Amino acid sequence: MIKALGYFIEIIRGSIITARHFVVNMFFHILKVLRIKTKRKGAVTIQYPEQRREIASRHRSLHRLMTRKDGKPRCVACMLCATVCPSECIYIEAEEDPDPEIQKCPAKFIIDLSRCCFCGFCVEACPEDAIRMDTENIEFAEYNRQELIYDLDKLLG
Ligand code: SF4
Ligand code: SF4
Repeated sequence: MIKALGYFIEIIRGSIITARHFVVNMFFHILKVLRIKTKRKGAVTIQYPEQRREIASRHRSLHRLMTRKDGKPRCVACMLCATVCPSECIYIEAEEDPDPEIQKCPAKFIIDLSRCCFCGFCVEACPEDAIRMDTENIEFAEYNRQELIYDLDKLLG
């Protein structure tokens, strides 16, 4: 009985703290909307999606594969990116390239973005500058994981 009373008191205490933060933040937010300046900012700082934060040029966003002048992927299927990837989310199948200078190209190039931690190691490791994370696309959320598996078409897109 005493234990149950203790739980109940903690629930009430937690609810009061949550309500207090809600009321105070809402008050300062309303002042901000009314353009009344105060030392303290409201809880909402960026009105997403109407307002968007500027993305830094070095930000690591959605991957893309670079192409040569003839439109073929610049990738030579050396597997360095797949080897260095800490999440093991890059899968490559190599095939022979008709150009003997290039030797190999990717028959399959898949990145499972549901596992990617956006460390950028793949970009750093690539000797051909064939993979970049500079698309500035940070809005690729999906309702199922399958949609987050990016193949050659999507990465070259
Ligand atoms: S950003 Fe990191 S985790 Fe994601 S694919 Fe590249 S190496 Fe792997
Ligand atoms: S490191 Fe670059 S060239 Fe090598 S497989 Fe990855 S993307 Fe292709």
